[in-house]
Amino acid sequence: MLKPLMNFSGGLAAALLVTAAHAVALKQEDISVAEVLRDRALESSDAYSHVESLTVEVGPRRAGTKGDERAVAWAQQKMKDLGFDRVYTEQIDVKRWARGHAHAEVTAPFPQPLVVTSLGYGASTPEGGLTAEIVEFADVDALLKAPARKVKGKIAFINKRMERARTGEGYGPAAAGRSKGMRAAAEKGAAALLLRSVGTDSDRFAHTGMMSVDGVENPVPALALSAPDANLLEAMLKRGKPVQVKLNVHNEALADGPSFNVIGEVVGREKPEEVVIIGAHLDSWDEGTGALDDGAGVAVVMETARLIAELPQRPRRTLRVVLFGAEEIGLVGAKQYVEAHANDLEKIVMVSESDFGAGKIWRFDTRIPESKFAIADQMMQLLAPLGIKRGDNKASGGPDGSVFVAQGVPAMTLHQDGTDYFDYHHTPNDTLDKVDPENLKQNVAAWVVMSFLATEMEGDFGRVSTEH
Ligand SMILES: [Zn+2]
Repeated sequence: MLKPLMNFSGGLAAALLVTAAHAVALKQEDISVAEVLRDRALESSDAYSHVESLTVEVGPRRAGTKGDERAVAWAQQKMKDLGFDRVYTEQIDVKRWARGHAHAEVTAPFPQPLVVTSLGYGASTPEGGLTAEIVEFADVDALLKAPARKVKGKIAFINKRMERARTGEGYGPAAAGRSKGMRAAAEKGAAALLLRSVGTDSDRFAHTGMMSVDGVENPVPALALSAPDANLLEAMLKRGKPVQVKLNVHNEALADGPSFNVIGEVVGREKPEEVVIIGAHLDSWDEGTGALDDGAGVAVVMETARLIAELPQRPRRTLRVVLFGAEEIGLVGAKQYVEAHANDLEKIVMVSESDFGAGKIWRFDTRIPESKFAIADQMMQLLAPLGIKRGDNKASGGPDGSVFVAQGVPAMTLHQDGTDYFDYHHTPNDTLDKVDPENLKQNVAAWVVMSFLATEMEGDFGRVSTEH
């Protein structure tokens, strides 16, 4: 991450020149209002009460489940109560799946139970379970390269550890095993996949998550193993004897069904057709209450819009809060949104998503033309006192936001400290007690500065490069 930060100093110099050429990008009066909003956000505890409400009154809300239905109703009611001008839903179609049981135990040479969970949309074992020898791979690439005879009839065990980092950059390399492992195992005739959980904790919880299942001819059961249990298998294998594991798994694939993107707007006073989108995802995995992923994000963007709606006048442009459905199972809500709105993507001035837990924001990235860096610099004047540094110009816009960026929509990302995020991510342990109310206030303070100034600024960012 150092490299882009250093590259940016060149950009900063360019931005200073632009600032000199076009004296002011944002009006001083707007900056003053943003400062008041920021300071109000630091005092309010409403964001915490929104995530508390979502986790207590709805809880787990995996796409296409009853919990998801309750979340959609909750979000609409909450946004109405908070004073949004328009609240509506847009239907999306989702694949549905019912999680049953997942048991695993070592049967030889040292019989003992293992803590596992099915990966999303995973298959079942035959009735009564299956028993097979495990074969270990350092990562999914090693499995992909292995000859089929080494894997056939066995349980492929991918034992890749995830590195802890503030940026979360260890996630991609580890998550590759989750997304591609089952397909690789099935194609080589394995009996099942066991995956060291994609996480940074040493707790005895397994981390679920999505995998690629489309077009896999004979899907096999796929289970994540808690980190201590992966250590246990590793230690048994070192003793040089075959390790036999019994799996007993039952899940059900269901017919496709509806879910919804839930949308709330603070309608612009001058250019209502121009839109700043701030998003989060409403769905969660089904084992925790989704406090960090992504209840905190839902709370942050809702509270940001509430504070702006409380001002004596509406912002110049429309601020649109989009609570995306079915993010966890493949960015489904965002993809269907972009498809359904292909003709009005031009009107989206900027997109940003909060979906990285509830840690403090430490860095501000953009994806805007260099000629507009002066606006980001002005935002930075209000963000810096919150402990936020300027990052690079390669903002992804967040997972759902990236789907818009791929269409050339400008984006901004307020990076949260993700050091602990993957201790809880996709586990039963993703619960409200992990959310620090003070950090959440700092988040809203940063979001309200960025969102308000984007709705008020002169001109727009045009379209941007979709390259990474
Ligand atoms: Zn998420």
